[in-house]
Parts: sequence; C-alpha cells; structure tokens
Amino acid sequence: MSNKNISFYESVNLNFDRAAKFVDLPKGLVEQIKVCNAVYQMKFPVKVGNQIKVIEAYRVQHSHHRLPTKGGIRYSIHVDQDEVMALAALMTYKCAIVDVPFGGAKGGVKISPFKYTDRQLESITRRYTTELIRKNFIGPGIDVPAPDYGTGAREMAWILDTYLTFKNGELDFAGCVTGKPVSQNGIRGRAEATGRGVYYGLREAVSFEDDMKKLGLETGMAGKTMVIQGLGNVGSHAGLISQKEGDAKIIAVSEYEGAIYSEKGIDMEKLLKFRKETGSIVGYPGTTTLAHRDAALELECDILVPAALENVITKENAHKIKAKIIGEAANGPISFDAEEILIKNGILVIPDMYINAGGVTVSYFEWLKNLSHMRFGRIEKRFNQNTYNSLVNVVEKLTGKTIGERERRMVTRGADEIDLVRSGLEETMVEAYQQIRLVRKRKKRINDLRSAAFVSALNKVGNDYLNLGVFP
Ligand code: GLU
Repeated sequence: MSNKNISFYESVNLNFDRAAKFVDLPKGLVEQIKVCNAVYQMKFPVKVGNQIKVIEAYRVQHSHHRLPTKGGIRYSIHVDQDEVMALAALMTYKCAIVDVPFGGAKGGVKISPFKYTDRQLESITRRYTTELIRKNFIGPGIDVPAPDYGTGAREMAWILDTYLTFKNGELDFAGCVTGKPVSQNGIRGRAEATGRGVYYGLREAVSFEDDMKKLGLETGMAGKTMVIQGLGNVGSHAGLISQKEGDAKIIAVSEYEGAIYSEKGIDMEKLLKFRKETGSIVGYPGTTTLAHRDAALELECDILVPAALENVITKENAHKIKAKIIGEAANGPISFDAEEILIKNGILVIPDMYINAGGVTVSYFEWLKNLSHMRFGRIEKRFNQNTYNSLVNVVEKLTGKTIGERERRMVTRGADEIDLVRSGLEETMVEAYQQIRLVRKRKKRINDLRSAAFVSALNKVGNDYLNLGVFP
C-alpha cells in the first residue's frame, strides 16, 4: 500500500472488497450493491448578516433495494462528497445488519455550525430541506433524514415543519424525518439510542468466555477500563450508560479541548455537568491532563470507544494502540490500513456498522410510531397491569401471604414507550452481534468482525435484490 492516506470512501470500499470474496453472489450484483445509486450535490444562497453566502450541501442515496432510504444529516466544515458517500454506504450495511428495512443514505452541509446564529442555522436547514423536496429526495416512503454530527432534535423539527409547509394534508408527514423532539412526533429514547446501543453491543461482546480468554480478559462489563474519545451525543451516552448500568470504569476522556485521565475512574455524570459549567473537561477534579488530546487513544485500557469522527486511527498511530477491544461508536474511526495493524496485534475491533446501529434502530421505531399514529404501549399498558395485578391477587390468595405495596407496583408495571424502545433496542443489538459472531466462527478465513458484518449485510442486501427480481 502506498504512503498516501486513504480516503474514508476508499476505506469503506476496501473493507467491502475484502468481505465480498466470501459471499456467493453474482459479480454484477456485488458491484451494484457497492455503488452509490444517487448523488445529489446542491449549492444554495443564504443571507448571513448583510452578505450572501453560498452553501454547499449533499444528499446521497446509496441503495434503493429497500425504501425509504435512511440516514442522518451532518453539519461540518469537513463535509465533502467522498465523506457523504462513505457514510451513506455504511448506512446500507448498518440497516441490513440490524434488520432495519431501509436502504442507506446520508446528507451533509458544509458549514461550521458554531459560526452561525440559531436563526441562520434555521434558514440553512429550511433551505436545504426545500432543495430536497424539490428533487423528491425526502418523504416518509422516499428518504428519511435524522440527526448526525452537528445536528440534533432542533434541526429535525425545522425539517419536519418545512416539509409540512409543502406537503400539507399528507397523512404520514411525520415520518419524513426521525430524531425529532418527543413533543413533535419524536420517540422517547431516541437521543440516547446510539450510545445505549454501543453499551448493549459491548456488553454482548464481552459475554463470550472464549473470545475474552483470547484477549486475556474476564467476561462482563463490570470493572472493565474504558477510554471515551468524544463527548458528543454518542460518546456521552455510551460512557454514562456503560458506567451506570454496566459498572465499567471510565479512566480517560478526550474532547476537542484536551484529554483527561484518572486511574480511579471518572464519574461521567459529574464530568458532563462540569463541562457544561466551565466549557471544558480540562481541570476536572481528580484527573490529570494528558499531553495532547490524541494521547487518550494510546492509553492502556480494556475498551477504547472512538465516538467522534472518521479516520482518527490511521496507519500513523495504529501500532501505538494498546486497547484490547475497540468499539467504533463513530462512523469510520479506523482506516482500512490501520485495521490490518490492529488485527495483527490481536485487538478485537467491533465495527461501526454494527456497534453504532442503535440510532437508526430507534429511528425505525420512531418512523413506525409515526406511521401508526400512536405511541408504543398505549393499547396494552393498562391491560397488562390489570393482568399482572390479578395474577398477584391469585398468588396472595393461594399462599395466604401479602406482597408489599412497592413490590406490587414493581411486578405489575405495564411497559411505557421508553421501556419498549429500550427492550427493542437491546434485542436488536444482542441478536445482531450473535449473527455476525457466528459468521466469523463459521467462515474459517474470516478473522475480523468487520468482514463478518459485511458478509452478513451483503447476503441480506443481495437476497433482497434477487427477490425483487430486478435481475431477470
Ligand atoms: N446518523 C445516525 C447514524 O449514523 C443515525 C441515522 C438514522 O437514525 O437514520 O447511524
């Protein structure tokens, strides 16, 4: 391999090619799965102060084998066509791995969001949405955006409102975008979903004794040392939940402003509060500041979670990574050539297209909620509660013993929307991990989880194409 650093899209395609050798699909079909089906680049003017700025933006639909296509919208100055194509392709494979019945897509707007006022960001978002509507690139059955790096529920609400302005009367309008505020047709648990999915995925990965033995680790999350790179929505929830529910020990955190370390562990909740108040993680009591922010990646730890942007582990620093497991919470944090080094060094890499699929999984639940026009749990919650209560009454009668009020409330509780979302997410992450682990075990020549995940995705997408009958 040459010295030039490979691009994100090249990395995705090299990973694809490596795995494609293990699938038994017609060559042309494999090529069709690999390519991006539609790339829309747009340039539009936005008034900023008394100037007019030309904004560059994209929407890429990678695969139409299932509709709608699905994927977030990124606001970042690093957005370019290569990046959006790579991210759209990853969405196709991601959805297939977790059995979310969508094709992959992604959008990007090339701006630094912090350089614009809220009002200007709203104008940009509304104009971008209008461009998508004009070209028929958005709709509940066409293409459904969601948040990504630099965007959140607020932007999704603007998208929804703009869509509705044009499509007044469309019954399923609310399904045109996901990740919306709960009060505006969103779903409970969407904001935490990617981070929570990362936790479920890691917990499943460390539950296999033979896999852990190879890494010299015990099973279970409790006490595992973790390093989190990036405290955005994904990194902060992954850290918080791994600590709260898994009892993992977060020993280092890195962010834009620097990286901090504590052998004793860092309380994530308090750290996030500290950052909110001071604007930085640096100086958080009981921690030392590392020489530079990327030093966190090179620390000795059980689990490293890169949760920011692509290409942070490249062939320049891959040999310095001392983590035993890497959970790719971000999309594409490890370049293709870096991964070869990591695999050689016996590191277990849990790939992005699986471990960060929790976001799109809950987006799928949100979309279903929008199409059904009803909150999950509304129909059955009381019925279940009444049934459980009758059951407890019968047990009390038969045993002659009574259960305390608190316990009764606990065992007779009917599921709310948040319970059902978390339950569906947990099931999805556990099931998908077992699938890709099995592919890796069965195919002797596959020695990494990414190739196994690709094989699983390629077979599913390939079969969809064949079942569509588009290749007579
Ligand atoms: N942007 C997220 C991702 O990369 C979520 C996509 C979605 O919910 O559609 O997976």
